[in-house]
Amino acid sequence: MIHYALVCENAHKFEAWFRNAEAFDEQKGRGIVTCPICMSTAVDKALMAPAVARTAVDKAAVSRSAEEKVALSIGHPQHAEIREALRALRQKVTSEADYVGDKFAEEARKIHFKDIEPRGIYGEATRDEVAGLIEDGVDFMPLPNLPEEHN
Ligand SMILES: [Zn+2]
Repeated sequence: MIHYALVCENAHKFEAWFRNAEAFDEQKGRGIVTCPICMSTAVDKALMAPAVARTAVDKAAVSRSAEEKVALSIGHPQHAEIREALRALRQKVTSEADYVGDKFAEEARKIHFKDIEPRGIYGEATRDEVAGLIEDGVDFMPLPNLPEEHN
């Protein structure tokens, strides 16, 4: 059995199983492979490349999450100043931007594609969402996430 993602002339996407590649060609030739939505017989195999690429990105994002390393630093002679600068930077970004919570990816995409007025936002995104934003070429940046100061 072979599984095909199919697309009809009206861009409806559907999936179907065939005994083998020849069976698909043969049934298509006889006009019995029909779109379940519009009943068109003008169907063809959908291009799988974008889906595959997306899956690869998602897989990479998922495999990173369990054992992902984070970049850290200690012992720099100006540790305290740099830490303070990062804290001020974070403070500057968050005080001048709207907090959108877990809607960040959605809102960032709207801003990137100019669906809404550009404005500064900040919030949270899952690793999958971050991978999706990178894939779409959205120019965002991470906010420094500092542990609480131990006094
Ligand atoms: Zn159709």
